[in-house]
Amino acid sequence: MFDLIVKGGTLPDGRVADVAIRGDRIAEIAPNIEFEARKVIDAAGDLVSPPFVDPHFHLDATLSFGTPRVNASGTLLEGIGLWGELRDVATVDDMVERALSYCDWAASMGLLAIRSHVDTTPDHLNTVTAMLEVREKVKEYIDLQLVAFPQDGLYRSKTGRDNVIRALDMGVDVVGGIPHFERTMADGTASLTDLCEIATKRGLPVDIHCDETDDPMSRHIETLAYETTRLGLQGRVAGSHLTSMHSMDNYYVSKLLPLIAEAEISAIPNPLINIVLQGRHDTFPKRRGLTRVKEMQAMGIRVGWGQDCVLDPWYSLGTADMLDVAFMGLHVAQMTHPDEMARCFTMVTEDNAAIMGLADYGLRKGALASLVVLDAASPIEALRLRPARLAVIAKGKVIARSPRGDATLSLPGRGATVRRRLI
Ligand SMILES: [Zn+2]
Repeated sequence: MFDLIVKGGTLPDGRVADVAIRGDRIAEIAPNIEFEARKVIDAAGDLVSPPFVDPHFHLDATLSFGTPRVNASGTLLEGIGLWGELRDVATVDDMVERALSYCDWAASMGLLAIRSHVDTTPDHLNTVTAMLEVREKVKEYIDLQLVAFPQDGLYRSKTGRDNVIRALDMGVDVVGGIPHFERTMADGTASLTDLCEIATKRGLPVDIHCDETDDPMSRHIETLAYETTRLGLQGRVAGSHLTSMHSMDNYYVSKLLPLIAEAEISAIPNPLINIVLQGRHDTFPKRRGLTRVKEMQAMGIRVGWGQDCVLDPWYSLGTADMLDVAFMGLHVAQMTHPDEMARCFTMVTEDNAAIMGLADYGLRKGALASLVVLDAASPIEALRLRPARLAVIAKGKVIARSPRGDATLSLPGRGATVRRRLI
């Protein structure tokens, strides 16, 4: 007897299979499983996917849009200034409440693992206190990884370094940084050496806001690759954004990409935010500001799509739907071949899970029983429609249901309902 069987769904690789769940684990995946189950979800014709994963988010700032003001210039720097005001007046309870509301949205969209950067700049570290509380509160349904993120610089802010250490001592999971925001290139370089050494000593992963600028001379990713290799951190380091690579000279990039591949650094572009924040100082042509996704993948570098922001000082929209993120990434990176579109779906599921080091992830026997049933026939159709999540299962429990996205029609000679699916 199983606890739950998701029957007859189409897996992302095209196989049609039942997924049987016992406790919090997948007990079997096979066509036509005959055993009884306490509960059955009929997924015939629908896509059954492992859950969505977001490897780059800011949960401490989410759902704060317009507080204290909207970002009038739309720039990264004005956003950082606004957040600097908000983080000093927001209480722990405010931040917990906003973050939990966001996690409700995420759960309803099948987004069940999130890596969130947490600003460690303010000495009170209320941000860290709040996010640790949230990590505990959501752990039954969302795997939340926290990054110690010195938003105002490791050295540029007086207590920046001390506060990163304090946050790690409090139980934050990942070492973060922002080298392009330090006072000088030299300070940026030194910050990366320092942060990678801290991570090595503590046995922690590293995730750096790296070169989030249109300045082609912002080359901190080169140092990050060097330090990763020097310290033996291969496979544990991620470079988030890497937008300067969009503007770099092609010859330099041809030297840089093999170094990133050698260091086994993962890349996390954030297409919704990169297309909105970058190029703001350009007239025309305006740069897109997205890093070189296809070129990195061709070199064997793992690339995931991150969401970064929802309704905060940097971004005035957002839905907690990783399919929106992949949809934007697909367009801006021009990943329009069917293989590339399918890859975009893999990026917000398998690739992002690998970046976060989620060992029990995936649709396979023995993995955690977390999965999503979508009102779509395939990953590509899911990207096209960004459809309803008919059922979301987290660690063996059904945590969300949504109705199909059908509409009724009153048109002469046409059907009574429409579902925008081809199959
Ligand atoms: Zn970020």
